[in-house]
Amino acid sequence: MMELLPIGLLRPPRELSLWDVPSLMGEILRKGYVDECISVNEDMEVTGGLELYWALYKLGVRLAPVGFNGCYASLDDLGFYDDVKGNPIRVYSDSLDLALRGIPTPLVKLRSYSNERVRVWAKLEWFNPFSLSIKDKPLLHILREMSRRGGLEGRVLADASSANFGIALAALAPQFKARARVYLPRRAELFGRIIPRVMGAEVVETEAELTVELLSRILEDSRREGLLHVNQFLNDLNFESHLRITAKELDYQARMASLKLVAIAGSLGTSGHMAAVDFYFRYRYGDKFKTIMAQPARGEHIPGMRRSETGMIWLAMIAEGYELHDVTLGEALEALRRVARVDGLLIGPSGGAALAALEKSVGVNDLNGDVVVIIPDTGFKYVNLISKLVGG
Ligand code: PLP
Repeated sequence: MMELLPIGLLRPPRELSLWDVPSLMGEILRKGYVDECISVNEDMEVTGGLELYWALYKLGVRLAPVGFNGCYASLDDLGFYDDVKGNPIRVYSDSLDLALRGIPTPLVKLRSYSNERVRVWAKLEWFNPFSLSIKDKPLLHILREMSRRGGLEGRVLADASSANFGIALAALAPQFKARARVYLPRRAELFGRIIPRVMGAEVVETEAELTVELLSRILEDSRREGLLHVNQFLNDLNFESHLRITAKELDYQARMASLKLVAIAGSLGTSGHMAAVDFYFRYRYGDKFKTIMAQPARGEHIPGMRRSETGMIWLAMIAEGYELHDVTLGEALEALRRVARVDGLLIGPSGGAALAALEKSVGVNDLNGDVVVIIPDTGFKYVNLISKLVGG
């Protein structure tokens, strides 16, 4: 006998990490159903199937299959897609509700890059309301999980950011009755320096070349001042948020619109969203599915992006099957200009880099079907940088 019970009612005796259950998570994504049970005692403590519990929890299901044997439930039965269906009426009780139920972010076919064989769809992450970027998603998930465990109120939440994560932190910390402190590297864009301050955050401008170089300093300050280090670079909730939101909402959109997804292209910063998207779709759609990632060519600076060798833990979670392409700022801006002139959409430079990587992809000529390109933010933030395109 099996019952489907709200997963929030179950009480696991201990927490397992992402690294304890990746193959089980992958198997659930691949099969699209579960055929094992979680067992509980009368106090709802999990007494069996702890790994299954955590795999399902991290994949973001609403219901858990509880019983001793004879369990079978499809992902739909488990409410797997419920969190990404959004609110079609678009009336929200507050800004947090908007961020949580204002998804999925739009998927729009680009005339500039589509042809008879390949339809290229841009997933516009600037439709997230706080930072107008993909970074709302990891931070929302991190703060909701941290607040579930207690102890956010009155704390100072600190992290390093190239710009967008800092804005999300500045916007979201007060929603959880906390404050924000943002550490910025030397080349952070102007919007990343000003907007967090307008939102009431403390901003620490530094001479660091890369955001990751700031980790030891934040660790030290955290120890001395009792800051709560969010750590988007190492916090597995970053990767998990993109599994259960970014990748899943894209899967949901593709299913509802009957798209035949053959590849996804995107850019690397922490690697959170692209590693999770690769993990999700490779299990769900099989090994033929292509993931194409962009990193800045050596010596090039593209806002929000880093080279993989500067350290990205979640690339270790996925096999070597993805493509990684070096892109120059010039190539990224060229792609941005092409989309702007044909589709009238002003994508950010990292979105341009993802499109440039797609063009470089070895197999691009063999692709046949629908390709998604993740556009992390909008070009409106980078007026200075893109003024180069018009001789400014
Ligand atoms: N593009 C922009 C504009 C970003 O701000 C970021 C991250 O900060 C990225 C791309 C990379 O995203 P991720 O950290 O998920 O790899």
